[in-house]
Amino acid sequence: MALPVAEWQGRTARLWAALEPALRERLEVASLQDAVRLGCDVLRSEEEAALEQLCHRAPTDKKPEAASWYREQGNREFKRGRYQTALRLYSKAASHELPGSPEVSVCFANRSAALLHLGHFEVCLEDIARAESHGYPDRLLPKVLLRKAECLLCLGRLQDAQDVLRVLESKIALDGAMTTHLTRLQKLSQLKVKLGEKEKCPEPARGEHGGTQGEPEIWEENSRISGASSSLSLSFDADRGRHLVASQDMVAGQSLVKEEAFVSVLCPGDSLALQDGDTAWDTQATNADLYCHRCLRQLLASVPCQGCSYAKYCSQDCADRAWQQYHRTECPLGALLLTLGVFCHVALRTVLLAGFAEVSRLVEMSHHGDRNLQNPEGSCRPLSEAADAGAGSRGVPGCDSSGRYQSSYQALFHLLPHTEQHSPEHKFLCTLSVVALCKQLQAAGLEAAVLNQESPQQCSKPKTCENTSEELSPELKTVAEAMLRHVLQLQCNAQAITVMQEMGPGDGAVVDKKPVRLATAFFPVLSLLNHSCCPNTSVSFSGTAATVRAAQPISSGQEVLHCYGPHWCRMRVAERQQLLKQYFFECRCPACLQELESGAKSVVSIRNSFCCPKCQAQMQGEEDTLCCSNEACATSASRDQLSGRLQDLEQQIKKALELLRVGKADQAIKMLLKCQMDAGTFLSPEHLLMGEMEDHLAQVYATLGKWQEAARHLKKSIEIVEMHHGPSSVETGHELFKLAQILFNGFAVSEALSTIQRAEGILSVHFGPQSAQMQELQEMKACLSELPRNILQRT
Ligand SMILES: [Zn+2]
Ligand SMILES: [Zn+2]
Ligand SMILES: [Zn+2]
Ligand SMILES: [Zn+2]
Repeated sequence: MALPVAEWQGRTARLWAALEPALRERLEVASLQDAVRLGCDVLRSEEEAALEQLCHRAPTDKKPEAASWYREQGNREFKRGRYQTALRLYSKAASHELPGSPEVSVCFANRSAALLHLGHFEVCLEDIARAESHGYPDRLLPKVLLRKAECLLCLGRLQDAQDVLRVLESKIALDGAMTTHLTRLQKLSQLKVKLGEKEKCPEPARGEHGGTQGEPEIWEENSRISGASSSLSLSFDADRGRHLVASQDMVAGQSLVKEEAFVSVLCPGDSLALQDGDTAWDTQATNADLYCHRCLRQLLASVPCQGCSYAKYCSQDCADRAWQQYHRTECPLGALLLTLGVFCHVALRTVLLAGFAEVSRLVEMSHHGDRNLQNPEGSCRPLSEAADAGAGSRGVPGCDSSGRYQSSYQALFHLLPHTEQHSPEHKFLCTLSVVALCKQLQAAGLEAAVLNQESPQQCSKPKTCENTSEELSPELKTVAEAMLRHVLQLQCNAQAITVMQEMGPGDGAVVDKKPVRLATAFFPVLSLLNHSCCPNTSVSFSGTAATVRAAQPISSGQEVLHCYGPHWCRMRVAERQQLLKQYFFECRCPACLQELESGAKSVVSIRNSFCCPKCQAQMQGEEDTLCCSNEACATSASRDQLSGRLQDLEQQIKKALELLRVGKADQAIKMLLKCQMDAGTFLSPEHLLMGEMEDHLAQVYATLGKWQEAARHLKKSIEIVEMHHGPSSVETGHELFKLAQILFNGFAVSEALSTIQRAEGILSVHFGPQSAQMQELQEMKACLSELPRNILQRT
């Protein structure tokens, strides 16, 4: 996903193998500038044609025939009462219609009906306005006006509702009986009755949704590092490079960094099926259907891009801003960007956001004055001396002339590209991809837009020159060089923006959420944090903003560390070190040292071990044959056989969840209980899967409203999660949140309150007092305290 599609990777690898040895050697040691120059010579039209062929599998253009198909599917779902699915299909339909066409207005109108059913009145009104402004057919207008009046009524805007009804009446009077259905007239009179009733006894104004403000956070911004807390300082030494150190004692939950991404690109997600041929359109929702292309906010009624079917926005404002800043350049290249992967896309958007003047200034500087850029490793020594001499952060790469480190393009440009450490094949792949992308920019007539040289009239209509055989202009070579740097930087510095996504249909009382990778981004300040497999911080995201919080008390002088992915609770040291190779360093964090030096078994392998089928003691051994740790028993078993059983078990669990999904809860329970029995004969009782089964059982019982059973199973799951991830981990926090929901629904008031308190304690450390989950917990608490006494006494 991050890198180009496999076929393009294979093609460049074959090309690399077939290169003249002398040319290969030159490429291996080439600077970024030379790499781009040589890449332009090496990329042949054959390769470009092959790449174009691959792009057909990820079409992003608008296809009106797809639109009508999606709309029909939407209508079908709507009739079945599946409004959520219908809503999504209408959005897909709208993204394929031409802007301003009557067809797109019909999509918006249909979508507004689904929104009304789902109770999203404000958004429904927006869609009606959209339909009207896109030339909704006049003969269909009464239907939409009725909907509008109903919506206004639901919102309590009586006067507006009345005005709409008056317009409607005059319209009907004008039309005569021929176009107006009797049912519609009936509905109109019903609405008027409702309106009359509401006017007689106006509902009490809903009180402000107040009182849920958490305690104010401790936050004072650092004067030398933008977005960082004043309790941090920037340090630099040869071993650790740039890093952040606590300059004061900090408490758990305290915010350390609050940074807006310099650039972020939505990942298409796994469900983006790359298929040959266009016969079957995908009805599944991808990230692009669920989140705003620009601000990553969750989409309800998306605004489609005027040019492509891929980019969808939360609002017209986001659509306009994205268009202005980068999307008018990206839009015609949508398929190519999906084919070349997210890293190339981030690299392009980075240079577009930075602007050509800044890009060429820094690229120029990297050729001449600033040797640090060419050889960042060699620059460590003089800089640390500078720091020792009390020069502060002035000499630290990425700082401006006053020694301030800002979340800017300059700081981003100075992130290490590790040019010498990447494999030559990888560098070659990145070079050819970037050069191919720049050639396409030139061929599509987008050069002026990239270089910010176009006049306003040219904005919307790039002149295309149809062929890519022309040599890249010197300016685009500069752009390509910067992009190549960024692609190489991303391997070490890409930050995944994750969100907790709701799993399943989302209509249950208990919401199951899983972390999902949403976007890839550059955060220049966050990038200052070094890795540890047992970090002292926790990172969370809201839209495109990241917040780093202390996950535990941190004392003055300690380095602030962040986990790049491989956490000690989730992987063994060998797996972690393997994963960390991409960052070009060997982790020496306390967790790694302990596991490596003492030869101690990692917690992961102890807890996720097999147990003896005969006596349930732990099975031991690193070889193919495992032995029972109970000497008296001496049973042995083959590792393969046990792994096979584990795989079968996982399959069975999947089937049980599928049963739950199609509404066969009783069968799902039977199947899960059988899985549990089976698992007990060969998995250690602390195995993570044992916990997952308990969690699933809790979920099934919750859908049946059997809250006590649900709570019982969830508590067992929590025990295991605590053992694996620790009692104050995010994972435990999420489980407690679920338990609170179950207890809340089951009116187990006092236990619910104490669970809410525990969940708050953990989640506020990781996500802060203002996070959505904290708000939900507060609301549950408020609701419980308002329960009438007679209900309280029942429990
Ligand atoms: Zn947005
Ligand atoms: Zn577009
Ligand atoms: Zn480590
Ligand atoms: Zn045994």
